[in-house]
Amino acid sequence: MNFYSTNNKEYSVSFREAVIEGLPADNGLFFPEYIPQLKSGFMNSFRSLSLPEIAHEVLAPYVTGDIPSNILQSILEETLNFEIPLVPVKKNISALELFHGPTLAFKDVGARFLARCLGHFALAADQKVTVLVATSGDTGSAVGHGFLNVPNVEVVILYPSGKVSPLQEKQLTTLGNNITALEINGNFDDCQNMVKQAFLDKTLRSELQLTSANSINVARWLPQSVYYFWAAVHAPKDKKLVISVPSGNYGNLTAGLLAKKMGLPIDHFIAASNANKIIPEYLHTGRFNPAPSIATLSNAMDVGNPSNFPRLLEVYDRVFENIKSQVSGTSYSDEQTKGTIRKVYESTGYLMDPHGAIGYLALEDFGLGDDESGIFLETAHPGKFDEVMNQILDFRISLPERLNERLSMQKHAIPLPAEFAKFRDWLLQ
Ligand SMILES: *Cc1c(COP(=O)(O)O)cnc(C)c1O
Repeated sequence: MNFYSTNNKEYSVSFREAVIEGLPADNGLFFPEYIPQLKSGFMNSFRSLSLPEIAHEVLAPYVTGDIPSNILQSILEETLNFEIPLVPVKKNISALELFHGPTLAFKDVGARFLARCLGHFALAADQKVTVLVATSGDTGSAVGHGFLNVPNVEVVILYPSGKVSPLQEKQLTTLGNNITALEINGNFDDCQNMVKQAFLDKTLRSELQLTSANSINVARWLPQSVYYFWAAVHAPKDKKLVISVPSGNYGNLTAGLLAKKMGLPIDHFIAASNANKIIPEYLHTGRFNPAPSIATLSNAMDVGNPSNFPRLLEVYDRVFENIKSQVSGTSYSDEQTKGTIRKVYESTGYLMDPHGAIGYLALEDFGLGDDESGIFLETAHPGKFDEVMNQILDFRISLPERLNERLSMQKHAIPLPAEFAKFRDWLLQ
């Protein structure tokens, strides 16, 4: 399978090259040259498969030629070695809990797959690779943990100073070894721009084998479609599925759209956002207007220029009416987020994090019919957002012990201004 740049269909590379390059040099995004179709009746056969087995069925067509089937299988068994339960919350609404991986966020899935693919390629070519990643919180820790001690790979994480939670900061600044954290005096968009500029810089590209671990990397993006299959297979039969995705850079949502294009029966998607409502506005007006990001309680979704927008267009061959008919968008305030967490906890006992809560709320507002079943993606463990949850609940959420240990570790980060030139100098020395 080849992957082309969304800016130029002639610019087409193998899966291996797409993973190593991360971002095409023309600043587009890699996209599969065709979308594989699953055999009819696959839903029935998937019901008896494990999560890594389903993942193998879904992903094999994208990587054939670059990763042998048996290696893909072991990569997937290692990547997906935690549960992804579908938990009923109330009548017609379930949470797909994507937070049972090592950093308690859904990004573990993509980051672990990417790390293992890159590790496989780097080792095979005996080539050193530098991974650059901008994070608004969760990506950096998922990528750092995913890559820790992978041979021939150096990871550089850029995070906005003071804008990630204390636990998130510890998760990305305490790993050491091949993982370096840069504390940028700016916001997430600054971090993301610095990474993007690095990929466009000829000198950097020739001096270092740079790659990206943001959701723009196909190996981060593609495996996220797997759990939509898993969810659909375990959802109530004979109901139309509506899936609500709390979104920021839209890697997660567009991976779901890809699953649907492969043949997965999902009736409708909801792009659930916080005050950073660029995509919901696009879905209403047809106009895509990036804006500076606004800080909210669901900080992993504070994105003013969603980087996967070209993939949203590409899945639907750039036909706005088609996008609009299958994806709707809504946005919610911090007050609504807090109120929903409290209300759902009090009425059902189910505790949501500030990101999942937005997904839940969008689903409730959608107004599900009796023939419909709603799933929202619970993208992180509520215990990761202590300061927010403390404003809502009168008890503390307990975290798995391994995270408590991390909180007591010493932070190691290199402070840098939000200037590309400084970042470039640092990379070159
Ligand atoms: C990254 C993240 C999101 C947003 O996902 P995108 O794929 O960027 O849209 C939502 N929730 C949490 C907890 C996240 O870490």
